[in-house]
Amino acid sequence: MHIEVNQLDKHFGDFHAVHDVSFKIEKGRLIGLLGPSGGGKTSILRMLAGLETPDAGDILFHGKRVNDLPPQERGIGFVFQNYALFKHMTVYDNIAFGLKVKKQSKDQIRERVMSLVELTGLKGFEHRYPNQLSGGQRQRVAFARALAPEPQLLLLDEPFAAIDAKIRQELRTWLKDMIERLGITSIFVTHDQDEAIEVADEIMIINKGRLEQKGTPWDIYKNPHTQFVASFIGESTIVSEVHKLKGFEDAALWSNTKALIRPEYIEVGKSDEFSIISATESGRIKNIHFRGSEWMIEVQVGDVTLITYRSLEKDALQPGEEVNVLVHRAYLFNDTDSWIIENK
Ligand code: ATP
Repeated sequence: MHIEVNQLDKHFGDFHAVHDVSFKIEKGRLIGLLGPSGGGKTSILRMLAGLETPDAGDILFHGKRVNDLPPQERGIGFVFQNYALFKHMTVYDNIAFGLKVKKQSKDQIRERVMSLVELTGLKGFEHRYPNQLSGGQRQRVAFARALAPEPQLLLLDEPFAAIDAKIRQELRTWLKDMIERLGITSIFVTHDQDEAIEVADEIMIINKGRLEQKGTPWDIYKNPHTQFVASFIGESTIVSEVHKLKGFEDAALWSNTKALIRPEYIEVGKSDEFSIISATESGRIKNIHFRGSEWMIEVQVGDVTLITYRSLEKDALQPGEEVNVLVHRAYLFNDTDSWIIENK
């Protein structure tokens, strides 16, 4: 289902929870709503579902305004973080629930439930009760139940939050594959950036009730539009006087700017590792952490500590060692604009 949201607004009392949010979602996309706690992600999801009424703005499904449609007429499936399964019902009856409500025949129900049991890898568990299942299995029952009435939009509120780290990883991959296969438009809420990057086709960054940026994970990582987005996605060091670094003198032209530097745009090494030594800064290694596949290095340049990574194949550096540092790129932000400066 193609979704369009225009200038959505929501207050709770005096609190402005959702602020002028507009976006479009193409059919079949898997969208991650990502942002810090209290930012308004769940409120947006609940308005799409019809569980909350917007103060202003329009919600269109397939170009048709649905603001006044009750939840059960919107063609949506819902999955919550805490499964919300019916405890006194078997897996089979949980999945069949929405179909019984729709008054489908017993045979139709059996066929649909069994195909979902198959799809969600729950064959053999149909007669178990929720308390006889693992967390991951329970969440798969919740997916199957949400999918049973063939919704056109699947809404998932922190669907992996209550699940162990290892199973969560499996479930993410499974969910992504399943949604791709079914081609069903899906929106999930998360505050975990790795999860959003790994699972979503597109991410919407929600902060303080506003949509700060929408794009593919790669696009958002490479071209963050605001300081908040840049610091929320990926690792970085924030530098207040970036114009003091060689190659970034132009940054002094803009007032009130902060710069953000990602680890992969910083090179640290011995002087013979750099072809043009005059372009580098001098630094001193502050700390080194072994991270399995690489070293994480904290290096002091003037009064700034930068964080970067170094391949295990290169010569080891030592804490306290004098090194050369080359910064290739910085993201600059002030209250209204953003720029990227490359050190050429
Ligand atoms: P989380 O990740 O913690 O779930 P979120 O980004 O989903 O956060 P929301 O649940 O949408 O955020 O909440 C946004 C803000 O609106 C919060 O400050 C919350 O306390 C407030 N809020 C949400 N629902 C209500 C309500 N029914 N009444 C009053 N305030 C509410």
